[in-house]
Formats: sequence, structure tokens, C-alpha cells
Amino acid sequence: MALKKLVAGNWKMHGLASDLAEVRLIAEAARGYSGVDVALCVPAILIERAARAVPDFAIGGQDVHHEPKGAHTGCTSAQMLLDAGAVLTIVGHSERREAQRESDAEVQSKAHAALECGLNVILCVGESLEVRESGRAVDTVLAQLDGSIPHEPTEEAELAIAYEPIWAIGTGKIPTTEEIGEMHAAIRGRLHERYGAAGSGVRILYGGSVKASNAGEIFAIADVDGALVGGASLKAADFIPIVAAAATVEG
Ligand code: PEP
Repeated sequence: MALKKLVAGNWKMHGLASDLAEVRLIAEAARGYSGVDVALCVPAILIERAARAVPDFAIGGQDVHHEPKGAHTGCTSAQMLLDAGAVLTIVGHSERREAQRESDAEVQSKAHAALECGLNVILCVGESLEVRESGRAVDTVLAQLDGSIPHEPTEEAELAIAYEPIWAIGTGKIPTTEEIGEMHAAIRGRLHERYGAAGSGVRILYGGSVKASNAGEIFAIADVDGALVGGASLKAADFIPIVAAAATVEG
């Protein structure tokens, strides 16, 4: 059976108090699509205000530290995210894997820390253009998955995987439907190997230049259980049509 789709926005380093009006618009419009789970991952400093502004809507973080507390200047723990009102967090986004040189092992410990304290996780994997062109995309992404996902399925909170080819993020380029289908099927296969039957329940999102005009086609691909959306999640006028596309696709 098809999984309920999840459409999550990643606001990256965008969002001031004045943008809470947009958060409200998105949350209000999302209420009209009860067949889709919708979330916004906002900058850490905006989480509490966003969560207070839209109490019934899923607000998330974009990263988390693996320790519960300690001498980690500038970092945010899973407990802090929860305390601020977040219900989920992204881990292992390629922008962090690249700029902060986060390893698979670090991403895995972040995922563990978040899931253990009840924070849902969207764990990102994805290949570079060089890897895609060399024909090693599937092997590379599966190796990233092997190194990053928790050893056991968790009961406390939900794990979702986001397949985000690095070369598709913010570029307007996207893989073909066959390439997305091949990757999502490979990820599903690996989740079954690792988690057995529980692997069927892990949502696999696609991310990279998703917009209203391509969302329907992407959501119709087998094992695409939603999307992680960057640029097109900043405005309700761009984001809600993507949610609407997820609502209309038959599973
Ligand atoms: C992202 O940053 O996770 C992303 C998918 O960005 P965009 O939708 O802008 O390509």
C-alpha cells in the first residue's frame, strides 16, 4: 500500500520574524490537504516563534547535534529543538555534508540522537554530478545510506530518507523519472535488507528543484513518498501547489 506523502520545506538560511506571515499562510492552506503530511524546517532561531504561530502544524529544524548538551558552541541539541516546539529535523543535508564536512558516521549519530528523544528525522543522501556521470550514483548513495541510517528501526519517532542529488539542488535540473525510480527502488531494497518488513514503512522523499510544474510527475514515480523542497517552499504560492500535487497523485 502507498504511504501517505510527506512534503517538507527546507527554508535553509532564510526567514525573519516578518516571514511568520508566510508560515501562517502555508499552515492554513496545508490544512486543506489532510491526505498529505506537510512540514516546514526553518532556521533554529525561528522555530519557537513559528511553532507558537502555527501550533497544529509540523515545524522542524535543519540540523541537530548528537550530544544532549555540553561545550558545543553554536550547536543545538535534539532536546532543545523539541523544547522549542519542533517535531522533526533534517540531518545530513548535502550543504552540511560539504560545508561542515559531516561524515556518514556523524550523520548517523545525529539521527540516533534525534530519534531517541522523539524527534522525527529526514535523513538526506545524494550523489554529486561527477558521480552521476561516472555511473556510480546508486552504489554511492547506498554506501551513504549504509553509513548514515540507524542500525535498528526506531519506535520513538519516524525516520524518512530524502534522496537529493547534489547537482539538482537549487539548479533547476532534475534526474529523469527513470533515474529517480531506479534510485528510490534501490533505497527501498536496502531499507528492506536493513529493517525487514519495517523498511516498507520508511518514507523516501525526492529533493532537488521540485516545483509545481514537475511535482505531479515526480510524485507518480513508484517509491516516491513525498518531497523535500528548498526554494519553492519559501512562499505559499509556490509551495502549496506542490502539496496539492501530492494530494492528487494516486498511490
Ligand atoms: C534542498 O535544499 O533540500 C532542496 C531540495 O533545494 P531546492 O528545492 O531549492 O533544489
